[in-house]
Amino acid sequence: NGSKTFITNGVSSDFIIAAVKTDPSAKRRGISLLIIDRDSPGLSATKLNKLGWRASDTGEIAFDQVKVPVKNLLGEENMGFFYIMQHFVSERLSLAVGAVASSAYALELSLQYMGERSAFGRTLNKFQVLRHRVAQMAAEIEMNRAFVYSLYQRYQAGEYIVKEASMAKLLATQLADRVMTQCLQMFGGYGFMEDYPLARMFRDARLGQIGGGTSEIMCEIIAKALIDQVRYAPPKSEQET
Ligand SMILES: Cc1cc2nc3c(=O)[nH]c(=O)nc-3n(C[C@H](O)[C@H](O)[C@H](O)COP(=O)(O)OP(=O)(O)OC[C@H]3O[C@@H](n4cnc5c(N)ncnc54)[C@H](O)[C@@H]3O)c2cc1C
Repeated sequence: NGSKTFITNGVSSDFIIAAVKTDPSAKRRGISLLIIDRDSPGLSATKLNKLGWRASDTGEIAFDQVKVPVKNLLGEENMGFFYIMQHFVSERLSLAVGAVASSAYALELSLQYMGERSAFGRTLNKFQVLRHRVAQMAAEIEMNRAFVYSLYQRYQAGEYIVKEASMAKLLATQLADRVMTQCLQMFGGYGFMEDYPLARMFRDARLGQIGGGTSEIMCEIIAKALIDQVRYAPPKSEQET
């Protein structure tokens, strides 16, 4: 029994992986992952109306006396919390790389438009204030790209980079927010029109600082490592803990 708001593809998915309490007294050591069939009796989902990311649905899922076969346990019992923590590294890295890629694309579109649109007898790309703005954005995109690529290499090499992935998500999604705002501005009135891609990119970028853990939570994870000397370590199996 229970419910969860904000589930990506919660309405259109065929099955759901839910983190459920299998030993409520054990807190984080009492959570397990279950694969739940979307058509299970008692499972319902409501589609939510949202600002952006409309290519996927976001749903609120409710469980009312839903029965799940024991064989649908994913991994070890009561290890769910640690699996989720581990997954956050790849989720945050992918959100960071998406933020960098969409920023680079927005800049590319803007550079093209700036070369085509004339105002006061000059194309936009001749106005120094706008030239400096694109230079600043390009520099920040390159810095973020290099950081994210280096983290992917470390991640693939097996390093457990919780703090660094949080840093990458924090900075890259903040950057995407700024870049979309500034690139939309380059398009003037057309930036506000749905006929041009910037309107959608502007809306979509806003999720970056919320989904997969907010920017404030990213700062919290980083601060815990820096100030409280928290050492993030990969999950051990139930036998080892
Ligand atoms: C489109 C979309 C898709 C999503 N998909 C999924 C999904 O598939 N699966 C899933 O599990 N979740 C999903 N989420 C949920 C998402 O991860 C959460 O919305 C997000 O982590 C923020 O949690 P919250 O909404 O409960 O905000 P809250 O926790 O209520 O936070 C509200 C505000 O308070 C701030 N805050 C909270 N705690 C602290 C603190 N300790 N210090 C400082 N500030 C703090 C937050 O940063 C935020 O600004 C999705 C959300 C959206 C919008």
